[in-house]
Amino acid sequence: MKKEKLVILGGGESGVGAALLGLQKGYDVFLSDSAEIKPVFKQELDAANVDYEQGGHSMDRIALADVLVKSPGIPDSLKWLKELSKKGLNSISEIEFASWFTPEVPVVAITGSNGKTTTTSLIYEILKKAGGNVGLGGNIGKSFARLLTEEPKDIYVLELSSFQLDGIEDFQPDIAVITNVTPDHLDRYDYKMENYLESKFKISLNQREDDWLILCADDEMTSLYLKGNKMTASELHFSQGPDPVREGAYRRFDDLIMRHNSQQVVLDTQKMRLKGMHNHYNVMAATLAAMTLGVSTEVIETAVYDFAALEHRMEEVAVIDQVVYINDSKATNVDSVWYALDAISSQIIWLVGGTDKGNDYSELLGIAADRVKAIIAIGKDNKKILEVFKEDIPTIVQYEKMSEAVAYARKISVSGDTVLLSPACASFDFYKSYIDRGNQFKAAVIALDKKNAH
Ligand code: ADP
Repeated sequence: MKKEKLVILGGGESGVGAALLGLQKGYDVFLSDSAEIKPVFKQELDAANVDYEQGGHSMDRIALADVLVKSPGIPDSLKWLKELSKKGLNSISEIEFASWFTPEVPVVAITGSNGKTTTTSLIYEILKKAGGNVGLGGNIGKSFARLLTEEPKDIYVLELSSFQLDGIEDFQPDIAVITNVTPDHLDRYDYKMENYLESKFKISLNQREDDWLILCADDEMTSLYLKGNKMTASELHFSQGPDPVREGAYRRFDDLIMRHNSQQVVLDTQKMRLKGMHNHYNVMAATLAAMTLGVSTEVIETAVYDFAALEHRMEEVAVIDQVVYINDSKATNVDSVWYALDAISSQIIWLVGGTDKGNDYSELLGIAADRVKAIIAIGKDNKKILEVFKEDIPTIVQYEKMSEAVAYARKISVSGDTVLLSPACASFDFYKSYIDRGNQFKAAVIALDKKNAH
């Protein structure tokens, strides 16, 4: 029998994962990348004998595909992709491709504008503590396709971006979580919030009645979507509001209370290492997901109380002269910064700026005026920031070098203040990634601390 042709566009983690899985499943695989493929991935492709090209696409070969898998980084709007689609060759995402080969085990999928990684990691930790052999991947770590080439797991927990969801057709998670939907990446969605919203809700598209869809009842865009669309899956809602529900999660003073079937879990926010209202939402979502999988209350309690903030997400770096330094470099949109400012009750010296994605900073004016005493703008182009905050924040300065920005923060801080890096922007102006930016902040703070010790 002739082998089916699998063509993969993009040679990153998802593309290489799809290639390895395709090979295992007997496809004739060809991978094409318009840019240079990273050496680690090239080595893998070579070792597996995958046919590939880089630095350009051979359109004639791509057009021969029976199955076309496209990396999430490549926009659908490319002219040649549209032309292929007109000819009947539509691309799918690596997640869709992998889902064709998923064994009969539960799949938990998490999406949202913010909180995906935290919620995904927390669900993973809870399930591991419960003794499961758990696969973790998707938008973090290993691609789903790669996971499926390895020894089978009892359950898969996947973080999914909206770009990954755009390319699904039949993917059907048993449990889906949408943490929230706030403006982000609108450049890829014709600047239309409804397109982005639609894309997030694709996670529930193929769910059936016995599947679970876990949603934030306080999220405006989620509520808007629910008004106009009927979900097939059984819904569980989480909210900071007072007890509105038989099932779902809510808050009572310092406690988060989750109910499902006959189980009730009560978690004390004071005992958690994860701080801030945003993290309380993440905890509620993760706990509900674990409850639908039958995890015991004791295991959930231990796992949640043990779980610390992930690196670059409201990560406490040091306390120097009673000033707390927090690295929130992963805050690349306005909403995540709002929660960062909300989570800190002291006066804040705020390091903000980077590559602007069309941010509306005015949403932060109220909360910033209340607690930010100085802004240190660290982007290449800080015009918008200066414009929005100049009336309300007494001190606004600009620095290009992280070490100088941190040194200035130290100079103007007094005991009890917090120095917060929470940029609201992407990092591609002066840094390789949000990780590089966060690491440079941490290095500068640690250097201060060392100086302090001498
Ligand atoms: P994602 O994977 O969706 O980017 P992360 O868990 O990595 O989410 O967190 C990204 C940023 O958003 C961090 O600054 C974090 O403090 C903030 N954040 C985390 N959870 C939430 C939430 N539920 N709502 C708003 N902001 C959040």
